[in-house]
Amino acid sequence: MPAIGARRVGVIGAGMVGVCAACWLQRDGHSVFLIESDEPGRGASFGNAGCFNGSSVTPVAMPGVMWNVPRWLFDPLAPLALRWSYLPTIAPWLLRFIRAGTPEEARAAARALRPLVGPTLEALQPLVSAAGAEDLVHRLGHLYVYRSADGLEKDRLAWDMRRENGVEIDEFDADELRQLEPALSRDYVRGVLVRENGHTSNPLELVGRLVENFVRSGGELVRARAHGFRLEAGRLATIETDIGELLADAAIVSAGAYSKPLAAALGDKVPLETERGYHLMIRDPEAMPRIPTADADGKFVATPMDTGLRFAGTVELAGLAAPPNWRRARILLDQGRKMLPGLAASHPEERISVWMGHRPSLPDSLPVLGPSGATPDVIYAFGHGHVGMTSAPMTGKIVADLVTGRPPSIDIAPFSADRFH
Ligand SMILES: Cc1cc2nc3c(=O)[nH]c(=O)nc-3n(C[C@H](O)[C@H](O)[C@H](O)COP(=O)(O)OP(=O)(O)OC[C@H]3O[C@@H](n4cnc5c(N)ncnc54)[C@H](O)[C@@H]3O)c2cc1C
Repeated sequence: MPAIGARRVGVIGAGMVGVCAACWLQRDGHSVFLIESDEPGRGASFGNAGCFNGSSVTPVAMPGVMWNVPRWLFDPLAPLALRWSYLPTIAPWLLRFIRAGTPEEARAAARALRPLVGPTLEALQPLVSAAGAEDLVHRLGHLYVYRSADGLEKDRLAWDMRRENGVEIDEFDADELRQLEPALSRDYVRGVLVRENGHTSNPLELVGRLVENFVRSGGELVRARAHGFRLEAGRLATIETDIGELLADAAIVSAGAYSKPLAAALGDKVPLETERGYHLMIRDPEAMPRIPTADADGKFVATPMDTGLRFAGTVELAGLAAPPNWRRARILLDQGRKMLPGLAASHPEERISVWMGHRPSLPDSLPVLGPSGATPDVIYAFGHGHVGMTSAPMTGKIVADLVTGRPPSIDIAPFSADRFH
């Protein structure tokens, strides 16, 4: 029996964001269905580095980052790649990205993000515990490692911004680093440990268990592709899909990198792009860090997972349609072997797997979270970029606040869809 005030809510997209929203909405007593065109958790939420980093408040467009771009674009090993044929399409996004890279804008983005990402593990905990998925979430911290003291100094502004937002860090010299993580190459001479951070050792399994529990608790999983909405007198009547119209009096747009046309269907033009990323995994690795470790210069993360060692990272600007460039994943293997010298110099192909996924990214590194312009019944929850796993639990809570009619527990004004006008 639905609770008084309960609404019929359709959540579009069963990635980490949509699934957390569905779970929080269900806990508020709403009658919830997830609409997913593929298998739950097979989008960006499948192959990420699995980190729940409440400390990740700095935008990608940090002041000074643009000075690296020309060098990166001509270096095949660089953390950023652009398909030149895609440049005309992505140019307006890049211009906004450049404009977001001032110290003031970056500081404002960090202040806005911290309440969304900071409480990630606390907001995830009730969902994980209800789903019996505690074994998949670990709070061991996150280590950032540098090959020179100078490298760490170049990141000083980012560390200052994290500290200004309440992130506590511990810095280590080369010897301390060795004791903390003996598997690491001796080329690393500085480390920064953020103890508050956590990770999942299997992102796909985590989403899967949350969905299982959602369905066990009365939620529905509908296999369909949503493409629009029918409004009557400014209120939502149905969600339009390829299997017909689905009755709903509220809808959540959480289709990750594919959310742009759904917002456009309601007249909201958002500059959503995809920053494509890759992973490469080694099954039964000869060496593995104990805790997720980011090579701060190479901008990739090595995460110990239940299914092996995952190297994940890199940004490729090439849109949703272009085929993967698997060389970008292979680069991660070369870099990973340098990070962990205990790894074999070669591995049989059956122990290696690669993946490419689409981060849903706005140029200012903030998501779109809040009601659509056309109706308060459709709530946007997309564009979480590099920190979608981390922001999903709090995003879900805020979505439930909005649908239920409570004031959101954090300031969501910086995330509005019309901030780009
Ligand atoms: C290499 C890499 C490493 C990363 N590492 C981290 C990390 O360590 N920590 C972190 O916090 N974040 C990380 N991220 C980012 C994170 O993975 C994403 O931000 C997050 O997964 C986005 O979740 P989502 O639910 O919005 O999108 P998705 O997981 O992509 O889910 C969207 C879902 O919507 C479905 N869908 C799309 N269109 C429709 C439609 N019209 N109708 C119905 N269904 C539809 C899709 O099939 C998909 O299942 C990483 C990303 C990459 C690429």
